[in-house]
Amino acid sequence: EKEESINVYSLIENSLFMVKQKIRNFNIKVIHEEDITLSKIEIKCYPNKFEQVLMNLMSNACDAMKEQEKKELSIKVFINQGFLYISVCDTGSGIPENIQTKIFESFFTTKPKGEGTGLGLSIVKNIVMEHGGELLLESEMGVGSIFTVKLPTTKILS
Ligand code: ADP
Ligand code: MG
Repeated sequence: EKEESINVYSLIENSLFMVKQKIRNFNIKVIHEEDITLSKIEIKCYPNKFEQVLMNLMSNACDAMKEQEKKELSIKVFINQGFLYISVCDTGSGIPENIQTKIFESFFTTKPKGEGTGLGLSIVKNIVMEHGGELLLESEMGVGSIFTVKLPTTKILS
């Protein structure tokens, strides 16, 4: 796959489409508003890989909300000091502090056998790094989690 210039919101839409069955089955509310000032922003990336990143984060977010009363998946895009941020936020279980570094390791999963491979986040992290970016995590037990992809200025085209 080669790097292409592609609109941020189309990447998000394509990724949401890939998890739409899960969103429907779990009865999850998606909050995704296109910011007019950011709507034309294009990034230089490997589109299939980048969609895999967002899709994995969205899929994990859905899983974390399966048993919750409030099920909201929000996607936020913003720019700060030249960096582009894409956040995938959930109102799920939250991630205990003592496993917050372990979840990025290959084969680490808290899901029942057959439901999780524990590979998602390690793949996500590798792809984000391949784009020169960073993967940030904020999580609060009982409130939810936010996984944010931070991309350098060099990847932002407009
Ligand atoms: P898998 O989804 O197959 O378990 P991942 O690498 O995608 O593997 O995730 C590893 C683990 O990280 C999950 O099993 C879960 O415990 C935790 N996790 C990931 N995303 C979230 C989230 N949004 N909320 C709560 N826990 C999460
Ligand atoms: Mg996963």
